Amino acid sequence: TYQETPDATGDIAVNEKALSPRRGGPKNLPIAEVLVDDEDSDTMKEQKEKPKLVILGTGWGSVAMLKELVPGDYHVTVVSPTNYFLFTPMLPSATVGTLEFRSLTEPIRRIVNRVRGHFLQAEAVDVEFTEKLVEVKAVDAHGQEQHFYLPYDKLIVGVGSTTNAHGVKGLENCNFLKSIEDARLIKQKILHNMELACLPTTSDEERRRLLSFVISGGGPTGVEFAAELYDMLNEDLLHSFPRILRNEVSVHVIQSRGHILNTYDEALSVYAEKRFEHDQVEVLTNARVKEVKPDRILFSQMEDGKSVTKELPMGFCLWSTGVAQTELSQKIAKKLGDFQTNRHALETDTHLRLLGAPLGDVYAIGDCSTVQNNIADHLTTFLRGIAFEKGKDPDKVHLTFQEWRNVAHTVRRRFPQAAAHLKRVDKLFEEYDKDKSGTLDFGEIHELLVQIDSKLTSLPATAQRANQQGQYLGRKFNKIAAAIPGFRANEVDFGDLDEAVYKAFEYHHLGSLAYIGNAAVFDFNGLNFSGGLMAVYLWRSIYFAQSVSIRTRLLLAMDWTKRALFGRDLMSE
Ligand code: FAD
Repeated sequence: TYQETPDATGDIAVNEKALSPRRGGPKNLPIAEVLVDDEDSDTMKEQKEKPKLVILGTGWGSVAMLKELVPGDYHVTVVSPTNYFLFTPMLPSATVGTLEFRSLTEPIRRIVNRVRGHFLQAEAVDVEFTEKLVEVKAVDAHGQEQHFYLPYDKLIVGVGSTTNAHGVKGLENCNFLKSIEDARLIKQKILHNMELACLPTTSDEERRRLLSFVISGGGPTGVEFAAELYDMLNEDLLHSFPRILRNEVSVHVIQSRGHILNTYDEALSVYAEKRFEHDQVEVLTNARVKEVKPDRILFSQMEDGKSVTKELPMGFCLWSTGVAQTELSQKIAKKLGDFQTNRHALETDTHLRLLGAPLGDVYAIGDCSTVQNNIADHLTTFLRGIAFEKGKDPDKVHLTFQEWRNVAHTVRRRFPQAAAHLKRVDKLFEEYDKDKSGTLDFGEIHELLVQIDSKLTSLPATAQRANQQGQYLGRKFNKIAAAIPGFRANEVDFGDLDEAVYKAFEYHHLGSLAYIGNAAVFDFNGLNFSGGLMAVYLWRSIYFAQSVSIRTRLLLAMDWTKRALFGRDLMSE
């Protein structure tokens, strides 16, 4: 029943059933009126009446929301170039054949079908806030780009982030690790280098270069990849490639800061560095990559207070130096002008509503977003509450150092990214305590908290946060639907319903983990410990159980068993 027909102006072919002959918006593009699979069914007729909820992206945030939504409350359309959900925390394991690619993915249509929604494999390229239209770009069967508008009543932006190039030249000579395709390319490249190294025509020098693996970026992704690579080299590759000697293979981590895993507690960073030293993974700290050439990497490093430029021959370089805004996020931020002042992410209020967009229309979650923290305001209210309970004048409250520490503990739990700053506040406490009374007054504390606020830019860009934000929005949207009898799009002025039906978003930090080669480091809000491999997988299974299906859990169990019995899968796919 679907026919390709010329549209009203005859210039592009449109799908008659899905795209109305209507054009509109500032670019006068065809409008995908309402997407329905079978217009005659009662469910679909009912859905046409429902508010149009458009979700951009199929990552952690969007999928967590889809899993919470009550089926049938909204007419859901998901738009993403990726038609699967990817379980990123275990992606480094897939680069070395410990896990298979398909064990980390879940087809998005299974998830979308649960809420009787629709999926479009396409990319959102712009948003027209006043007309409530998302501009979508799809590539048709003839390889032609087609643009159309998708109308929404509510829009969720969950488009994640992109690689941060930091203005470094030569990134075309690097590999990245964000998608399944990236993991596949990494695996191919490692195995190809090993094969080249075994050719009788390869010189000794060339062999060492091919087997020199560089990881630029000492954050969790870079460190975990280095650990997985090291495990594979030791446990499988050297057995499979007996011509290669262990001392011909080298792994180097280049980190711009003083320690790897610098967002974790320092004791854990040091533990990870010692472990790497023992495993002969070279860690180059205070080093900045300047350029990546096809066969070597140029970086500067501080030596005796001077910056010295150095060169490292390499056969493989992973670029994992942090994240930047996607093109869509940049465009949205520019459009919203003064409301969006953060250069790294889209700013939302604590109800996750995009600042500057009409109230209650657009939300942003996950890596592409940041919540305005207002820690100072939050804590001030908290402290005033304490004063009120004690029957004291809030403006004359004094905290002892111990009391301050208790408050700081609460802040650290809710805003883990504040931990480093809070340590500085402990020092400031002493400086402020000029009269040596051992206490701080309320005004001084507020001043300190404002200082912390100004230093914090965002919550961490993690699956943990994206997942919590998606769940939060899903729950809130269910409450909004339940709050309005006979919930119909054209009857609802969403306005500030958010605040009436649900609390503001609160992030609960569950701790951070990094795999460092048959061991792991954990940072639970200042409580640190390191543990063995079982602990690593136990921790990851917690996420896994929450986010992925029985199918993927079974596949994962099979992969681990296969690896234990037969070693890693060393085939290039
Ligand atoms: P993503 O999961 O990145 O999803 C974004 C989605 O948007 C994708 O589906 C993408 O295709 C889609 N998209 C992009 N542009 C558009 C567009 N224009 N229109 C429509 N759709 C679009 N976090 C942890 O908490 N713990 C870990 O152990 C951990 N390990 C990691 C390991 C690796 C190798 C990587 C890469 C990340 C890891 N992270 C981890 C971070 C975590 O994966 C991210 O924080 C998380 O994926 C963010 O979720 P998101 O929904 O914001 O975005």
